[in-house]
Amino acid sequence: METPGNLFVVAAPSGAGKSSLVKALLELDSHLGVSVSHTTRAPRGQEQDGREYHFVTPEVFQAMADRGEFFEWAEVHGRCYGTSRVGIEARLMAGEDVILEIDWQGALQIKQIFPHAVLIFILPPSWQELEQRLKRRGEDQPDVIALRMANARTEVAQARHFDFVIINSLFETALFDLKTVVHSQRLKYAAQRRAKSQVFAALDIS
Ligand code: GDP
Ligand code: ADP
Ligand code: 5GP
Repeated sequence: METPGNLFVVAAPSGAGKSSLVKALLELDSHLGVSVSHTTRAPRGQEQDGREYHFVTPEVFQAMADRGEFFEWAEVHGRCYGTSRVGIEARLMAGEDVILEIDWQGALQIKQIFPHAVLIFILPPSWQELEQRLKRRGEDQPDVIALRMANARTEVAQARHFDFVIINSLFETALFDLKTVVHSQRLKYAAQRRAKSQVFAALDIS
């Protein structure tokens, strides 16, 4: 599907800093909107329904999947997560840029539907640091952290399928890298042609 808006997809093992980086990017970039996923996992401490996720029961999630309401969905760490069609398609068609924070399985599904999607993988600097961040975040039980650390091994192996890789060692450096990827995408010929159509017309560039 071709759309005027740019689509960015960010994936990472749990704890790599994906949500923190995307949140910081959104605060700096008013042309970018995030898609709020549906999930069957329970909300964490500060999370609010409709803000971080739409929290739904497995029955509601299954019914939405059966009705074809998701662009993609996947089972991650034993729970279901999905990107609903509502909103995203309209925003992309209206020329807005959208960022998805989803797992690698979903990212690869999105690339099939939107070949122009830019896939970005966030890596932690080490396994030790990843585990420390999950513990420091203090939101997940030890068994959940152990499951996420175990799953991280297969997740990082998927980075090879992505267009860009950012290592989140120093937060500000990783944020700069993420901004650079988004900015570069917007400077591509087709994107500039759409965004700056008046300049192109004035210069008689078809
Ligand atoms: P966190 O990554 O530790 O913050 O944990 P979350 O519970 O927020 O996310 C769990 C996993 O589900 C992560 O790999 C997310 O990227 C992924 N995820 C979140 N939303 C979606 C979605 O809409 N679709 C897919 N496929 N994966 C998602
Ligand atoms: P994810 O969304 O990938 O699961 P989070 O954004 O929740 O990861 O980050 C996990 C934890 O690591 C959070 O407590 C966050 O504040 C912290 N964190 C993120 N990036 C860095 C970094 N570069 N250095 C140190 N801690 C970080
Ligand atoms: P958490 O439970 O820590 O919020 O997220 C766990 C994982 O689920 C993360 O890797 C996150 O990116 C992924 N995830 C969140 N939303 C979606 C989604 O809509 N689709 C897919 N495929 N994965 C998602």
